Amino acid sequence: MKYYSTNRQAPSVGLEDAVIKSLAADRGLYMPERIPVIDRDTIKSLKNRSFREIADIVAQKFFGEDMDSQSLTDIVADTLSFDTPVVPLYINNIYSLELFHGPTLAFKDVGARFMARMLSHFILRKGIDREVNVLVATSGDTGGAVANGFLGVPGINVFVLYPKGKVSPIQECQFTTLERNVTAIEIDGAFDDCQALVKSAFMDADLNGRMQLTSANSINVARFLPQAFYYFNAYAQLDREGKAGELIISVPSGNFGNLTAGLFACRMGLPVKRFIAANNSNDVFLEYLKTGKYNPRPSVETYASAMDVGDPSNFARILDLFGNDHRQITGLIAGNRYADDEIAETVRRVRREYGYLLDPHGACGYQALADYSLKPEETGLFLETAHPAKFKETVDTILGEDIEIPAKLQAFMSGEKKSVKLGKDFDGFKAFLMK
Ligand SMILES: *Cc1c(COP(=O)(O)O)cnc(C)c1O
Repeated sequence: MKYYSTNRQAPSVGLEDAVIKSLAADRGLYMPERIPVIDRDTIKSLKNRSFREIADIVAQKFFGEDMDSQSLTDIVADTLSFDTPVVPLYINNIYSLELFHGPTLAFKDVGARFMARMLSHFILRKGIDREVNVLVATSGDTGGAVANGFLGVPGINVFVLYPKGKVSPIQECQFTTLERNVTAIEIDGAFDDCQALVKSAFMDADLNGRMQLTSANSINVARFLPQAFYYFNAYAQLDREGKAGELIISVPSGNFGNLTAGLFACRMGLPVKRFIAANNSNDVFLEYLKTGKYNPRPSVETYASAMDVGDPSNFARILDLFGNDHRQITGLIAGNRYADDEIAETVRRVRREYGYLLDPHGACGYQALADYSLKPEETGLFLETAHPAKFKETVDTILGEDIEIPAKLQAFMSGEKKSVKLGKDFDGFKAFLMK
């Protein structure tokens, strides 16, 4: 299968190069030239299969032309050591799709681990003998998932850039205590500065001549596409209960990788009636839905910090998927936005009335469903993208409680934190990378 660039000014490439390069030479995002379809009978049979079996079916359909079947099955099995259960809230047909049972308790674990394994497979197959360097800028959650996904993978170095004092202590531990092939770099600046450094590195011809650089953000096809697995798994679970007939799926969104994976699942044949893009105050996408105009702008800080994105990178993929047709897009995707006071109120109310603890991101997803007013025959599913304890400071403030930290998270906090401290100037960063 060939992958073309959304900007269409760069040549199409095979999966191997799309994964190794991440971004096309014209700065566009790679898109598969065809989206394979899974037939109705197979979709109906999913309810009798395990998560791994379901993911394997989806992976073979998508990547099967470009990779031998057994290697792909091994990568899927190695990625999915955990489940993504669908949990009923016992109210108005609303279910939570808990995506936080992976190693760093974030949905990004699925894509990060899968990409690490696939990249490593391609490096070996291509006989690339120099090390591949993964650069990742993080406002908190991506760094942990990527660092742990790539930890100990031979031939790959990971550099995690994060803004000093702006990530939560738990998140910081998830990528500063690992060592081995993971280097944490604390930047004296904001998240935007970290992202700018990574972008400058990709554009620096000299640096790229000397080092093989790639990205593990959701611009990489191997990172965002595997996220389609758990949409199919959720469908299978709901189908077992006879609840999958008319599915409305609400996705807390920042860079829109997760939602885009859902749209791909839908194109592959997964029956979804509607998607809802749930945003915090960073609502450029909602504005696009309402007006047809896209006005990227600097992000503002909110309680749902992983969604503080003012220019979502996967927006280009959504436009491309629907041939830039605003009517088609609004026909399948609705949207809503929630300010911090509304997020707080939702977390408190859902805890009080249904005994379910939401994180600030999942709260946007839940509330967008609650406000959608589902019909009796519809099932609402929101993606709970992180364990609430990952945002403990915020959730504690909202609830006035001291919420429990799961053992898996606690384990990271006992390690010794190590990071390199750098300023936000590119020359300093470049000099560090080259030595
Ligand atoms: C990354 C993240 C999001 C946003 O996901 P996108 O794919 O960037 O839209 C939402 N919630 C949490 C907890 C995240 O870490």
